[in-house]
Amino acid sequence: MLVLVGGPDTGFRRRNGDVLRLRGPIMHPMMKPALRRGWRDLTTVQFGMVPAHALVLGPLDNATGGFLTLLDGTRGLPLLRDEGRRMGLPDGHVDALVERLAESGLLDDATGDGPGAAALRGKDAVIERLRPDLASLSLVARAPGAAMERLAARRSLRVQVRGAGRVGATLASLLAGAGVGAVDVRDGGRVEPSDVAPGGLPAESVGERRDLAARRAVRRAAPDRPPRASASPGARDEPGFSLVILAPRTGVDVYAPAPAVTAPLIASGTPHLHAGVVEGTGVVGPLVLPGTTACAGCLDQERSDRDECWPRMVAQWRSGRPRRTEACDLAVASTVAGLAAAHALAFLDGALPSSAGARWEVSTPDFVWHARPVRPHPACPCAATGEGNEEHTAPEDGGPHETMTGQQPATSVSRTAHAAQRSGTWRAHV
Ligand SMILES: [Zn+2]
Repeated sequence: MLVLVGGPDTGFRRRNGDVLRLRGPIMHPMMKPALRRGWRDLTTVQFGMVPAHALVLGPLDNATGGFLTLLDGTRGLPLLRDEGRRMGLPDGHVDALVERLAESGLLDDATGDGPGAAALRGKDAVIERLRPDLASLSLVARAPGAAMERLAARRSLRVQVRGAGRVGATLASLLAGAGVGAVDVRDGGRVEPSDVAPGGLPAESVGERRDLAARRAVRRAAPDRPPRASASPGARDEPGFSLVILAPRTGVDVYAPAPAVTAPLIASGTPHLHAGVVEGTGVVGPLVLPGTTACAGCLDQERSDRDECWPRMVAQWRSGRPRRTEACDLAVASTVAGLAAAHALAFLDGALPSSAGARWEVSTPDFVWHARPVRPHPACPCAATGEGNEEHTAPEDGGPHETMTGQQPATSVSRTAHAAQRSGTWRAHV
C-alpha cells in the first residue's frame, strides 16, 4: 500500500494509523537500505517496491530531494543541519524532515542503540553475515536503531529444538544462523543416512549420536560464538528456554502430538511450537502460549469431538512398530524447517505469528498452504479458554490469515471431499 507521507507543508499520514514513538535523538540518520528508491515524478519519491512496505514521500522540492541522499548514516544531525543550510533549506526543516521520516518507519540510526547492539556493531564479520537478516528486521522494527537492537537481543535467547531429523536439525541450524544465541537440540539414537539434509545433518555425521551431531551443525551455522549465558549444568529444564520447538521424526507425533509430552511445557509456561512432516504433509503450528492459545491437548479434544473414533485411531497409530521410513521428502522437510524457523523468529522478535492458534499444513503435490484453526478447548486443562484470550485465537474461516495464497480455506477443502468418491473410496474427514 502506498501512503502519501507528505512534504513540509502538507498533512502527514501514517500507514495503518500506526504512530511510531521515537525513543530519543537519532544520532546518525540513515534511510533504510532495505527499501529501493525511485522517483514517481519530479516531486514524489517512492521507497520500496512491495505493497507491504512501500511508501511515497512528496511533494518535495529539489533541495529536499537532494538532501535525502545525505541521510546515509555517516553524518550526525549538527552536520546535516549545516549541509541543509548550505543547500538553502530553511531553519528547522532538517529536523522536521528527519522526524517525519523516522515516524514513517523509513529511517534507521547507524549508531544509536543499547549496550547489546553496541557490542554487536563491533563485530564486523558477524554483521556482514547477518546484514540481510538485519535489513529484513528493519522493515518490521520500524523505529530508528530498533532492528539492530532486536538482532542483538536474539543473541541472548535460548531455544530448544526436540528432534534432529530432516526438519529439526535444519530448523535448529536456521535459528543459529539467524543469530539466536543458544540453540539446544535434543534427540536420541544415532544419525541414519535418511537424516542427512542440506542445511541440517551432514553425511559425515552418519553413525554419530544425533544430538551431538545436530549441536555441531548448529555451531557451524552460527555466525559467531555468542556470549554464553550463565548456564549451569542443571539449567536445561524448560523454564530457561524462550521457546521450545517440537520437531519429531515420527509422523504420528507430528500429526497427533501427545498432550502428555507438552504438559510439562504448559505447566512451566514455556511457549512451544509444533512442526514436522507426516505422510508427505508439512505441518507448522500451533505456536502454543500456555494458558493463552490452544495446545496439543486442545487439538486432541477437538478432534475427539469431531470424530469419536479419533482416540482409537491414535492408539493404533502409536501401537504399531515404529516406521523405518516416513514420507518426508527433502523439499517439504526444508520448507517446513524454513517456515517454522520464520514463525519462531517472529515470536522471539516480539511478534505474534499466525501459527498461534492455527496449524499451517501443506501437502504434495499442489503445495498450497492452509491454516487449520486450533481453538482453545474447554475440557483441556491448559486453561486457554480463559477470558481475554480472544485476540490470540485462530482466525475464523475466511479470515485474513486463512491461507497464504488466497486459496480456499483448509477446513472447507477437507470437508467438501471434492476428490473422487468412486469405488467406495472417500476422503477421510480428518
Ligand atoms: Zn489446551
